[in-house]
Amino acid sequence: GAPAEPPPIRRLDETVVNRIAAGEVIHRPSNALKELIENSLDAGATSIAITVKDGGMKMLQIQDNGHGIRTEDLAIVCERFTTSKLREYEDLSRIQTYGFRGEALASISHVAHLSITTKRADSECAYRASYADGRLAAAKGGGRSEPEPCAGNNGTTITAEDLFYNIRSRRDALRNTREEYSRIFEVASRYSIHNAGVAFTCRKAGAAKADLSTAQGATAIANIRQVFGGKVAGALVEFGQADEDLEVEFKGHVSSAAHEMHKTVFLLFINHRLVEHTPIRRAVEALYASILPKASRPFVYLDLRIRPERVDVNVHPTKREVRFLNEDAIIGRIVDCIHRRVLGTNDAREFAVRD
Ligand code: ADP
Ligand code: MG
Repeated sequence: GAPAEPPPIRRLDETVVNRIAAGEVIHRPSNALKELIENSLDAGATSIAITVKDGGMKMLQIQDNGHGIRTEDLAIVCERFTTSKLREYEDLSRIQTYGFRGEALASISHVAHLSITTKRADSECAYRASYADGRLAAAKGGGRSEPEPCAGNNGTTITAEDLFYNIRSRRDALRNTREEYSRIFEVASRYSIHNAGVAFTCRKAGAAKADLSTAQGATAIANIRQVFGGKVAGALVEFGQADEDLEVEFKGHVSSAAHEMHKTVFLLFINHRLVEHTPIRRAVEALYASILPKASRPFVYLDLRIRPERVDVNVHPTKREVRFLNEDAIIGRIVDCIHRRVLGTNDAREFAVRD
């Protein structure tokens, strides 16, 4: 028969486009939290307090003591592609901040009810503003609401409520609030280890005790101890190396061959971003599989710094994955370095007095 009529092509509504794009950046509460923590760190915060209701689905709040947001910027801060961090495309290759494309707050505002309270040190009062779909929320009497002066501490508090209220399928897929809370805790605790010195707390709303509470000026080991326990912290060896040819530097803590765990714990930061990198993880796991008894797995905290020009952080909307040059060679150096250190502890054990 005759071919069917082609369906007409229509331009999508702007709100639909924005909601789809936002859903790609923010998959679940823990993605939103990662972006918000990175913003607080970018703002120079030394104290970050996270409060969570229903696994972050009902509410996710993060309070920092960073430099705040200029009152005059509050009107545009949640628009897509508004940022204080990037001007030219070329800047991307030497970016020192976590953020760069001004998408996080915009994305969150498209899938949650977002409000910001912020106070700069030189301002007499704080300002509070509410947002919807990238803009200041609609005012009761029509038009847009204005930021309102209020009391507040120096720094910024961002509150996201009713996450995915407008994406039913996503909300339904995230019903397990315990699972979401554990992912939130994972992101918060890992950033607290990598940013030891900055005080982090993470708690469920209304809970008397925080689940995570690291001290200002604490060490990475102290924070590992708090999160993973004394047994893990006590079994770690430090490793590190700089390589001028490859323009990389790495350091971290790994469990010694003597330590037995049942699940691999892998904290990987590349240029201070918490990321996944399957080839690195596999290579380190393979090394441990050749050293450790069958059922035990390593603890690895790896802080890898690569010259920014050699890294592409813009490969994935969530920035969860990165690519870099000379991957195989760099992985080889890391594995060799860990291998030597872990064997070193083995040797020491042979001579150590057993208790
Ligand atoms: P990006 O981080 O890529 O610039 P975001 O959407 O995450 O984009 O944030 C937009 C802008 O809002 C940032 O560039 C920054 O100027 C400001 N901002 C966001 N969060 C904070 C915060 N906690 N403290 C100070 N400024 C912030
Ligand atoms: Mg950001």
